[in-house]
Parts: sequence; C-alpha cells; structure tokens
Amino acid sequence: MSDFYDVITVGGGPAGLSAAIYAARSGASVAVVESLTVGGVAAATPEIENYPGYESISGYELSQKMSEQAQRLGARIIYGKVEKIRDGQVKRLQLSGGEELTCSALVLAPGSTPRKLGVERESELLGAGLSYCATCDGNFFRGKHVVVAGAGKHAASAEEYLRNIAQKVTVVNPRVTPVTKLIGNPLAAIEISENGTARVIECGGLFVELGYEPSTELVKGFVQTDQAGYVICNERMQTDKAGVFAAGDIVRKPLRQIVTAAADGAIAGQFAAAYAKTR
Ligand SMILES: Cc1cc2nc3c(=O)[nH]c(=O)nc-3n(C[C@H](O)[C@H](O)[C@H](O)COP(=O)(O)OP(=O)(O)OC[C@H]3O[C@@H](n4cnc5c(N)ncnc54)[C@H](O)[C@@H]3O)c2cc1C
Repeated sequence: MSDFYDVITVGGGPAGLSAAIYAARSGASVAVVESLTVGGVAAATPEIENYPGYESISGYELSQKMSEQAQRLGARIIYGKVEKIRDGQVKRLQLSGGEELTCSALVLAPGSTPRKLGVERESELLGAGLSYCATCDGNFFRGKHVVVAGAGKHAASAEEYLRNIAQKVTVVNPRVTPVTKLIGNPLAAIEISENGTARVIECGGLFVELGYEPSTELVKGFVQTDQAGYVICNERMQTDKAGVFAAGDIVRKPLRQIVTAAADGAIAGQFAAAYAKTR
C-alpha cells in the first residue's frame, strides 16, 4: 500500500520547502520528496546577501532553517527521486527505489540548473571567483574588473547589472571567442581563443551567463510549458492540470532567486492545501 498525503512537493529547494510550510500550516498532511539535498541549489551557495531578514547567511544554514521549520510544522522529508507521476483524482508518484506515494495535490518544484562553459576547473572555482548569477553574487565583486562570458539577453542583463557595481565589465561571447582556461585559485585571469590565438584577460571575477536549463524531466508533456521548458502557471501557481501546482525556478518568470522561489512556494502550498481539502 502506498503512503497518502494531502500535498506532496517534488523538490526540497526553497520553493518546495516554502510550499510545505504553507500547506502544513493550512492543516494539510505534507511530504517533500528530495532526490539530493534539502535546500537545492541554494544549499550550495556559500553566502547569500539578498534574502530579506539576513544581511548575510550561508545557503546551507538558510536551507537547514527552512527544512527544520517545515518538519516542525509536520511535513515529512522523503529522500528519493520522483521518476514518474500519474495524474488522476489521486496522483501517484513513483520513486527511484520503487516506492509509491499518493496525494490529492502536487507542487512541482524541481528547479533548474545554470548552463556551464565546459572548461576545466569550472566546478572547482565556483564561489572562488566564478559565478553563474550576477544578481546573486555581483556585490562580492564590487570595484573589481569582471568578465561576463555569455550571449544574448542573459549576458546583456548581467552586464547592465554589473556596470553599477564593478570597476569594469568585459563581455566575451564564448560561442565566438571560447574560454579555454581558468587561471588561479581564486580565479585571477581567463584565457580566451581569439581567431585561434590565445589571449589572457586578467580579472577579479567571471560570470558565466549562458542561461538556465529547467529540470524538465518530469514536467515535459505532463503540464503546459513554454518553448524553453518552463512551466506556465496562473497567479495561484496552478498549472493547466487540476490539483497540480508549480513553484520556483521551474516556472516561467523574469527573476529566479530564493526569495521569488519562496514566494511561489507560499502561493502554491496555500492553494494546493485548499485544493486537497475539496477532494
Ligand atoms: C551559483 C548560484 C548562486 C546563487 N545565489 C543566489 C543568491 O545569492 N541569492 C538568491 O536569492 N538566489 C541565488 N541563486 C538562485 C537560487 O538558488 C534559486 O533561484 C533557488 O534555489 C530556486 O529554488 P527552487 O526550489 O525552485 O529550485 P532548486 O533550489 O534548484 O531546488 C530544486 C530541488 O529539487 C530537487 N529535485 C529535482 N528533480 C527532482 C526529482 N525528480 N525528484 C526529487 N527531487 C528533485 C533537486 O535535487 C533540488 O534540491 C543562485 C543560483 C546559483 C546557480
């Protein structure tokens, strides 16, 4: 027999945990299914300076606080990867270990991941001079010369944001001038290939702004998405499927941050719990 909950959130990042907090406070029985670590991408962020109420907090600590708060309110955290969802009056979630969970209402919050440059030492230098998010980390590079490696609207908005903060912003389009080497730890320079000739640019930071990949595995073909794969929701964070809500980075929206993920989660959790009560 499968365990039944009023509300299940798929993903235990800021969006899923906020949804759990709001749904649990509405009196719903709640489970959060997380495949890796509670806190999601935020948990791996060394320092967060833009979450209201905290001038500075580590992503790990903020994530732990959100997770503890959700559990104190009665939400259960279940570790496992949701591999398949079957819709219906009762929604059925199949986990990687073969376990099945069922619920009345579902909040999809699997997040998204930044596109990588694909250069050696990229992961090693994350938080040591390399960032995937100008809005998140720009302030740590105040007064420095920074390079934005990116193209299109992502690079343009990062450049605009950083112009007011950095001493100088250099933009390179990796599709035209590939970044071939990351030098120093913390990062002190990058090497690019300009018409086949190597050129070193000294810098205090590198922002990789190639956009994000939504975690579409579960949502594609299940709920309505836009061309890029982001879920389309109404103002109650409801998808085109009854009882299926979405929140956080997986949703089509203009700003992907912890505070916006938490806000989406609050709305989704509240209305998912209300939906479950009508079943
Ligand atoms: C490098 C970096 C730095 C950042 N710094 C900041 C910052 O300083 N301030 C700020 O406000 N924002 C920052 N952000 C953005 C912020 O982290 C995200 O907007 C936020 O984490 C989105 O929350 P989420 O819950 O939607 O998704 P996520 O945090 O991505 O969480 C999604 C969770 O779902 C889980 N999951 C996925 N698929 C499944 C599945 N099938 N089954 C079970 N679980 C699943 C994942 O393991 C993950 O834990 C940063 C982002 C990056 C990449």
